Amino acid sequence: MNKTVYTIFFFIALLHTSFAQNVMCGHDMVRANMEKMYPGYQKYVDQTFEDAKSHAKNIRQTNTTYTIPVVIHIVWKEEEEKIDSSLILSQIDILNEDFQRLNEDADEVRDEFVDVVGNPMINFELKDIIYTQTASDYDVNIFTGALPDEVKFSNQGGSDAINTETHLNIWICKIQPIIFAGQFGGQLLGYAYPPNDLDNWPKGADFPEGEFEGVVLDYRTVGRNNPFPIQILPDQEVTLSKGRTAVHEVGHYLGLRHTWGDADPGFPNSCNVDDGIQDTPNSGIQSMFDCNLYQNSCNNSPFDLPDMIENFMDSASENCQNSFTAGQAALMRGILETSRCVLVDACQEVSTRQLITVPINIQPNPSTGIFSIKGQDLILSNFHFTLFNSAGVTFPLPLHNKTIDLTDFPPGVYFLQGQDETNRIQQKLIKK
Ligand SMILES: [Zn+2]
Repeated sequence: MNKTVYTIFFFIALLHTSFAQNVMCGHDMVRANMEKMYPGYQKYVDQTFEDAKSHAKNIRQTNTTYTIPVVIHIVWKEEEEKIDSSLILSQIDILNEDFQRLNEDADEVRDEFVDVVGNPMINFELKDIIYTQTASDYDVNIFTGALPDEVKFSNQGGSDAINTETHLNIWICKIQPIIFAGQFGGQLLGYAYPPNDLDNWPKGADFPEGEFEGVVLDYRTVGRNNPFPIQILPDQEVTLSKGRTAVHEVGHYLGLRHTWGDADPGFPNSCNVDDGIQDTPNSGIQSMFDCNLYQNSCNNSPFDLPDMIENFMDSASENCQNSFTAGQAALMRGILETSRCVLVDACQEVSTRQLITVPINIQPNPSTGIFSIKGQDLILSNFHFTLFNSAGVTFPLPLHNKTIDLTDFPPGVYFLQGQDETNRIQQKLIKK
């Protein structure tokens, strides 16, 4: 066999393995694809994730259950895809159960994980179901990595998002199977864009529009006892009865990563790639839609735990998924208090004392690092200043005389707030 042929065969094998492993969820493809379209995307998602993690440590210790308004778009071509609203209602019930640890199978979590499971206390309220008939097919392009985002735009045969800042949009359509060299190559069940602080991008940067935000699901994954079978592996067709594809994808939408870490498609996962959440046991492979209680891919002595196949962010069979961990719950609540705070009306409140807001002239703005405060006769040394980014993470203000030096800060939008006894200053700073 000459080298070219060998390479092609290897390529096919790699693709096949990759897509077989990614059949559950398009999260890895989302990342790879967005990075290609918008270099730097992953960096900003990582930054949001890190910010939310640090915020999660100081999470507001409230018993508030956050309620997310949900809009469902059903974009159908064949009659079967126009699923009944009863399936949608049961899907909302499932989200409410699983995100409030009210699911009946919650107590099936194994003993070793009883202490790490958590309750995100997140509620979902259905606001609208929008039916749209389409002539389009929704494909995954395995060569470009492009996902079927056309479903989100009416001028491309889909259904336009309802304000993605204030609503979780879920699009339901038929996602075509991946066919490679005439063979079944995999099936995407759903995907979601994780939060990325769009405000963090320099002005004029070509970043994904807010209309992309939300979850896309195949109609055969939705609701309780969905009657429509779906092929997930070359030799396996299943009916999905528990609606947990949506739970998993909403987990991504609220910032969670796969428990096995997010290795790039086509590359092996390993125990060195972590999901960044402390209390999920390290695992190096994803489950393959089974319930393998013996799977233990990483040896973490001295406290070795098996892979947590019960976790919604693994990809075991829906029948053995039943839990988020406390760390995952805290991270999602952290996201709802920062990046996605508008969604649940939980943004940090600015001091409401009766202070007079005074104008401040800072130049240049945007700047590559040095911002100068011009012509102020305020006595700045009397002010207490706060500097924070759009994720709500605060930083000490690098103020010297009348110069703010953000040279060492990552590009993005920062907010300067200052107050003395009577005056308040607020200014957005854009670091290029
Ligand atoms: Zn996923």
